This record gives sequence, structure tokens and C-alpha cells, in this order.
Amino acid sequence: MTAPTQPSTWLDVPVDHPFGIDTLPYGVFSRADDPVRRVGVRIGDLVLDAGAVAAIGRDAGLVGEGPDLATVWQTSSLNAFLALGRPAWTIAREWLIEILRDDVHRDRVSPHLHALDDVVLHLPIEVADYVDFYASEDHATNVGQIFRPDNAALPPNWKHLPIGYHGRAGTVVVSGTDVVRPTGQRKAPPDPEPVFGPSIRLDIEAELGYVVGGATTLGSRIPVDEAMDHLFGVVILNDWSARDLQAWEYVPLGPFLGKSFATSVSAWVTPLEALVPARVPLPGQSDPEVLPYLRGDAFGLDVHLEVRLNGTVVSRPEHAVMYWSPAQMLAHLTVNGASVRDGDLFGSGTISGPDPGSRGSLLELTWNGTEPLTLDDGTTRGFLEDGDTVTMTAWAPGPGGARIGLGEVTGTVRPAR
Ligand code: MN
Repeated sequence: MTAPTQPSTWLDVPVDHPFGIDTLPYGVFSRADDPVRRVGVRIGDLVLDAGAVAAIGRDAGLVGEGPDLATVWQTSSLNAFLALGRPAWTIAREWLIEILRDDVHRDRVSPHLHALDDVVLHLPIEVADYVDFYASEDHATNVGQIFRPDNAALPPNWKHLPIGYHGRAGTVVVSGTDVVRPTGQRKAPPDPEPVFGPSIRLDIEAELGYVVGGATTLGSRIPVDEAMDHLFGVVILNDWSARDLQAWEYVPLGPFLGKSFATSVSAWVTPLEALVPARVPLPGQSDPEVLPYLRGDAFGLDVHLEVRLNGTVVSRPEHAVMYWSPAQMLAHLTVNGASVRDGDLFGSGTISGPDPGSRGSLLELTWNGTEPLTLDDGTTRGFLEDGDTVTMTAWAPGPGGARIGLGEVTGTVRPAR
């Protein structure tokens, strides 16, 4: 591995900073003295008011036929930008790299850089539809063994299609949002009747979420080889899950209230262009071979996650082990003619690998609570307690040995109401 050597920006950003010029994630921010939300781009520990800079050229009449980035970036979510589609996303990224690389732009850009500590980050997208998949073979196998010990661990369809369910878009929240312990019905096998009350098996799921743009029309499909026209970027996603509610409700239609109370995402959306150096082949889909509509340029992503519970690292999931790729998930999601909307979000499913230290849920890490984890403070956990804080971080390999930071998603459990 060689160290990056190119002086890549006129900004004072160390070459090994995870938010260097090769990362440039998008988010939505406001400031105490200017509460209007707008699109920001992170560089180092600064946030660029990208729309304000783009507006300088537009207002001076210097912009030609290109996309009106000034307008779409001076809105309260990424959705208008997502609507422009892949050609505009590519132009935008090239323009950002240009103005941050060439010193000639310094005087024009500098006034629109804000310290990260001085901004408030908001939910970056207005989530249209939210779907969650189940793409890790180890996770699906572990869950099968725990929930259905008398059956084959993997359902018969699992290697033929990426299994998913529709979640609740309106309860996707940005990193830092507290999560109130959900209340509902549960019935453990020995219970004669269902019990009502706060969940006693509150869990996490470490995932990546894929942000979709370039809306399609009803009746059309997105082939695997065209997925990159619609896959905009990646967030870290925590699919909070109440295992006791889930176990009682999920047959036969899948997860419902056990997951719909909150889904947390990172504030920064990493563009898929930044993850090109992280592309890896899929682990293999030859036994059985998948149907033709799921074949094509279906790359995996070498993203490394870390899960901390009250500061103790409890897992290091590896996204590269995922059986299904985001391009295949999007192709499958639309193969029946379902359209996508700007701001659609789909989760990868819990990222768990064969190594017990790479399991992405407490369900698996503690084997349904029977093997509790010991935290650095000496306390133990089967599932989450009130006051617990879960933080997930991630990074991917960038060009020349650099690291691409994906930021973090964090949340603290509050007592049931
Ligand atoms: Mn999930």
C-alpha cells in the first residue's frame, strides 16, 4: 500500500484524512445564525455551503447549459439533486473537486466553508420509500437457526432472490436522534397469552443504506447494468429491531412494528463514485446460478464497519461478504415494474460474516441473549438497556492507500413512554 502523495486541495486537510478530496459526501446542514437548511459537502472538518458557491457563477451569468446546482443545493434535502440523475451527479462532483483543488477558487470558496462544530446536521434525504433486504448469508443462517431451529436455516428462495420487506419511510431519523424503546405485544413460546409492554429484547442491525435517484416510471425496470444511473450514494444504517415484538408478529407477512419505530442513518451520504476503489467481486453466485435478470455488473463493496456499545467495540462487520449486491437488489426491486422515486432508500440487511466478531446484531452476538457481552465497564448485555448508546462507523479503501470515511450513525435508547 502506498501513501497518497498528491497535494490534492488548497485546503489544509491532511492527505490521510478520511474526508479528503476523494470522499466529498453530501449532507444537509443549518447554522445557529442561519437556520435555513441547505445542502453541504464535507471536506476535512469543514462543511462547504455548495449551493452558495454555485450561485456565484449562476448570478454572474457565467453558467451555461449545465444543471442548476445552485437551486437544487439551496433546498432542505438532497431530493431535488437526486432528481437530476447520474449525468448531473457526475458534473457536480467534478465541479466540487475542481473548486477545492485549484487555488484560483480559494477567495470565492473560502467564505462559504463552515466549521463542522458550528453546524447542525439534518436528515439528508426526504425518504420516499424504504425497503430493507436480507443480503448476508451468515446473518440469514444465524437468524434461521435462532428463530426456526427445526427448519433449514436458509429459506429455499434465499439464493434465488434478494429477500426484502417494505419498511416505514417516515420513521427514518438522522444520526444523533434518541430512540424511544418501543412498546407492543410479545409472546414467548412458554407464555400462554401475549403480553403487552415495553420491548425487553431491543436490538440493532449494522447495515449500509443505498440512496436512490433518477426516478423511473411505473411499469419500467432497472437492469443490473443500469443500476449506477440510479444508485446515488451510501449511508450507514442502524435498523433498530425489537426481537420480541418481531418474533410474535412476523409470520406470515414479515417485520412490522418490531422495526418501524425507528431506523437511524448517518448524516453524510457518500457518493458511489467515492467507492469505486472499494469495488470487489461478489463472494459467488454459481450454486445455484441466479436468473439472467440478476446477472451483470453486480459488484460488492469492501466497506469496513465498527459497532460500539457505550464505547466498547462489540463487532467489526465486513460488507464485502454480502451475497447480494446493491445493483441486484435494485434490479429485483423493480423487476415487477415498480417505479423508484427520488429519495428512495434501501438497506443491505444486517452485515454479518462467518467470524463471530463480525456479526452485525446483538441477536447473533449474544445468540439470542444466551451468551451476554461484557462491556469495558464490566456490565453485561444480552440486549439494549435504557441509556445505552450505539455508534456505528465505517470506512472504505480509497485511491493510493487513502481511506474514505463514511462517518457515523449514533443513537441513544430512551425509556418507553
Ligand atoms: Mn435490517
